[in-house]
Amino acid sequence: MTNPVIVVHYHEVWLKGRNRRFFLRTLQSSLRLALQGLPVKRVEPLGDRMIVWLGDGAVIEEVAARIKLVLGIAFYAVAQPVERSIEALCDAAWREMEPQQFPNFAVRVKRSDKSFPQSSLEVESAIGKYLLDQLRAQNRDVRVRLKTPNVTCYVEIMRQIALVYAHKIPGAGGLPANTAGRMMCLLSGGFDSAVAAYHMMKRGAHVSFVHFYGAGAEPGESSAHVASSLVKQLVPYQAHAKLYRVPFETIQREIAGRAPEEYRILLYRRMMLRIAEALAKRDHSLALITGDSLGQVASQTLRNMVAVDAAAKMVVFRPLAGTDKEDIIDTARKIGTYDISAEPFHDCCPVFLPRQPALYASPKELDAAESNLDINSLLFKGIRAASLLKFEYKSGTVEVKESAFIKSSAKTQSALA
Ligand code: ATP
Ligand code: MG
Repeated sequence: MTNPVIVVHYHEVWLKGRNRRFFLRTLQSSLRLALQGLPVKRVEPLGDRMIVWLGDGAVIEEVAARIKLVLGIAFYAVAQPVERSIEALCDAAWREMEPQQFPNFAVRVKRSDKSFPQSSLEVESAIGKYLLDQLRAQNRDVRVRLKTPNVTCYVEIMRQIALVYAHKIPGAGGLPANTAGRMMCLLSGGFDSAVAAYHMMKRGAHVSFVHFYGAGAEPGESSAHVASSLVKQLVPYQAHAKLYRVPFETIQREIAGRAPEEYRILLYRRMMLRIAEALAKRDHSLALITGDSLGQVASQTLRNMVAVDAAAKMVVFRPLAGTDKEDIIDTARKIGTYDISAEPFHDCCPVFLPRQPALYASPKELDAAESNLDINSLLFKGIRAASLLKFEYKSGTVEVKESAFIKSSAKTQSALA
């Protein structure tokens, strides 16, 4: 018997218009990359679907686990490829349906090749009748139910072949990865920012990351390690990623020593945004992402977020602004970042925590609070001390490499301009 294929369905919405070919090519190469190292013969668009032709010895569970991480897929199914005759379709349909128990069923036929001699309805009723006869011959009490059937046997008639399957598996959804442009995510190690990055990846953004870490942590407790594990977990969604790590303690000390206590956290945030913005420019990222959720903590009141943002020219996206914590946690569990963020680690923000943080700061107040600070020199300090890790997803695993990156002040100056 021929090997099964995986039939991949994508959302049609994003296919309207000129982007169609670009999106399809990106989805095709994401699938190829995700399946690297597994016995797969080819991945190709056919009709309105993407087809993965499996080779000998392919383990369906392994293939499915890889496809689960490919963005832009509405659902997929393991299908039998058969020749385009009613007999072959009936046989394949029976192979799908016989092992299953159900009180009612339906057959759904889609013809992407309209030159096929029978109409979809004719094929549906021919296969439906055949299945009913076979089932009744086994004394099984079943009926056809077109509306909300328990089990549906799907048949897709394409130009050269037909596909038959009975289990649709939900895909990751969203748009194909790396189709929307680049963004820089401020990644803390907590639950929220990793989920925020995932949401933007899912809409096609290619996300780079920047993490600020403090000193004084015991080995193994460093938040830098947590940030890098998080990126490792997220990188399969977009194939490769950069993580900039910035030591933040000396900058925090400076802020704590020279600015009014109640604004400390907000000033840390403004400094983080400025450094992230400069790195984003060097990285050709067009916007920033944070994991803030409106009203979750004192620094995330609407006024405080607006006052913090005034420090950066770049647009700051907060995909979780309107999301409840439970929903964020659910997503973290689903994408596998929950356990990583739940590890104990040394978060730099609570260092020198004010007793009474400001709840309703204005941009003007924060500008004034920064008047004793040399903002530009802190910015350079952050960028010069930054290090870069590069992540690459290959054959189902993620490789991490230290990477040199040029921090000459000429380049930094131009990034800040
Ligand atoms: P998270 O769960 O992402 O830590 P949070 O609800 O704990 O978010 P904060 O810790 O106040 O909230 O941080 C708000 C946002 O600021 C984070 O989502 C992240 O985008 C950014 N941020 C905070 N700390 C850091 C850090 N050390 N490095 C990089 N970004 C940070
Ligand atoms: Mg946090």
